[in-house]
Amino acid sequence: MLTVRGLRKSFGTTRVLESIDLTVGRGRVLALIGPSGSGKTTILRCLNGLETADGGTITITAAEADPEAAGAAPAGTATSTGTGTELTVDFGAAGGPRDKQLAALRDRSAMVFQNYNLFPHKTVLENVLEGPVVVQRRPKAEVTAEALALLTRVGLADKTDAYPFELSGGQQQRVGIVRALALRPQLLLFDEPTSSLDPELVGDVLRLIKELAIEGWTMVIVTHELEFAREVASEIAFVDGGRIVEHGDPKQVLRHPREERTRQFLHRLL
Ligand code: ADP
Repeated sequence: MLTVRGLRKSFGTTRVLESIDLTVGRGRVLALIGPSGSGKTTILRCLNGLETADGGTITITAAEADPEAAGAAPAGTATSTGTGTELTVDFGAAGGPRDKQLAALRDRSAMVFQNYNLFPHKTVLENVLEGPVVVQRRPKAEVTAEALALLTRVGLADKTDAYPFELSGGQQQRVGIVRALALRPQLLLFDEPTSSLDPELVGDVLRLIKELAIEGWTMVIVTHELEFAREVASEIAFVDGGRIVEHGDPKQVLRHPREERTRQFLHRLL
């Protein structure tokens, strides 16, 4: 469903991603772990088109025919595979990827941020509607019904007209997750979704993410919560120095790491 090949990214003269290769199957959950500054967030931001990589390709296959990608087809980016529509963005192409390709890439994933990133002057409901209505141009009535159902599901039915500052961190993050779901993405990206939360609020958010994993969402999660990663992830990749050092089954990576760098990282945390 997601294939990343040779992804590279520098900021100025600093090489942050060396050459990232990743594959995530539909309905699978990949946890990215690794030291601070190793490039995990940059990987997510490249997947979501928040950063433009310098080289490599990102391919995301949609479950069903996707009119957005079909619209991008004349640019030579999207091909119908029969089971879904495959979108490949080549960052190494002369002149870089086209705006239309980047827009199609952005449309296929949705990000949940560490600091929630809610619009402070919009209500909870307005925060959720913004992307689907303004960016995706879907009918407001339909999106509102869907948003209310999602907010009810996460226990925020009575907060639809509240502003972010009136909510706890855990409630704000649940809005962040609903906002991502309302975009109907192929891929959910979580960037340390609980690291800004007070310890007593972490459990609720992790439980919600676990429910989404069980429902079959395809997800990439950057996390320091190793116990959570072991429980929820289908696979774990250890990132260090802008490379995937080790990628495998959660139990294997956490309990019997093959690489010395992984061992040292885990040793420091335990
Ligand atoms: P992680 O998520 O593993 O902590 P990041 O992807 O956030 O790592 O950062 C990787 C490296 O890239 C760090 O050295 C960081 O300082 C640098 N970096 C990230 N974003 C930028 C940016 N916009 N400009 C310059 N350097 C950046």
